[in-house]
Amino acid sequence: MSAEIIDGKKVAELVRNRVREDVNDWKSKGHRAPFLQVILVGDDPASKVYTGAKTKACEDVGIETHTRILQDTISAKELKSIIKAYNEDDSVDGILVQLPLPSHLSSHDVIETIDYRKDVDGFHPMNVGRLTVDEPCYRSCTPAGIMELFKHYSIPVKSKHAVVVGASNIVGSPMAIMLSRENSSGKATTTICHKFTKDLTQHTISADILIAAAGQPELIKGEMIKEGAVVIDVGINRVADETSEKGYKLVGDVDYESVRKKASWITPVPGGVGPMTVAMLMKNTLLAAKKSIYPE
Ligand code: NDP
Repeated sequence: MSAEIIDGKKVAELVRNRVREDVNDWKSKGHRAPFLQVILVGDDPASKVYTGAKTKACEDVGIETHTRILQDTISAKELKSIIKAYNEDDSVDGILVQLPLPSHLSSHDVIETIDYRKDVDGFHPMNVGRLTVDEPCYRSCTPAGIMELFKHYSIPVKSKHAVVVGASNIVGSPMAIMLSRENSSGKATTTICHKFTKDLTQHTISADILIAAAGQPELIKGEMIKEGAVVIDVGINRVADETSEKGYKLVGDVDYESVRKKASWITPVPGGVGPMTVAMLMKNTLLAAKKSIYPE
């Protein structure tokens, strides 16, 4: 068996096309363009790449955006007062603080400072809480993008055993909530694994759907999965590569070559989950402009 490829790039383009049409429609009714305020603290190269991709996607769909770059020495107090000003600014629909933050800043504190009605990343406890009780909210973009992939490829989720490897607040945990709790697209029986999970293979081998989101290069090998499993690779890891001009290459959390021989569906890295994350951010920003989730 060789897995069918889940083409995140193609599906993300379809999502972006829909957002672009909706933005045009919104503007044709006399509204201003949606506006996304991005905040980047410091000059982490990967974060710059991610914010650059978000800016480009905004331009592509007609969302206006500005990235405010702040020194990595900024105090929590100063950063929070900048966020609060954007909270009050009616011309700002969505606010995104690029993570990770320098170690002297608490990402929890910073995220909680963002008005949950502008939290288009879906990381604020209000949005996470509403996700847990299956109420309308900004859904965290990476797991929401994965749910969209299942929908596009008609991959059944309901009643399947889904195993999520990784339990972070931005990927693994909301992923497990969507898979297990969402009435419309989830209702899988879900296992969540993390660093303290004993015998990871015992869990992964029983997964009908396996989500790898541990940030560990090629952690998931072919012998750890069930024949016919659907495998979603969230990982983006830089590993040294002397043959590349940059000195590194990107690999996922899945050992692609051995896993694709057993899986029924697989996402590649790059071109799988990554483009979906950005597309879902566009969707959330449009929802924020329209005040669809939290009407005034
Ligand atoms: P974090 O480092 O915040 O979280 C990793 C999670 O994996 C933690 O819950 C950790 O456990 C768990 N973990 C680590 N090692 C193991 C292991 N050996 N076995 C089981 N669980 C393990 O990472 P993120 O969630 O932010 O990101 C995960 C990966 O996804 C990264 O490679 C990141 O670059 C990528 N990513 C990709 C995106 C995309 O759009 N494609 C978007 C966001 C992230 P514990 O909780 O116990 O520490």
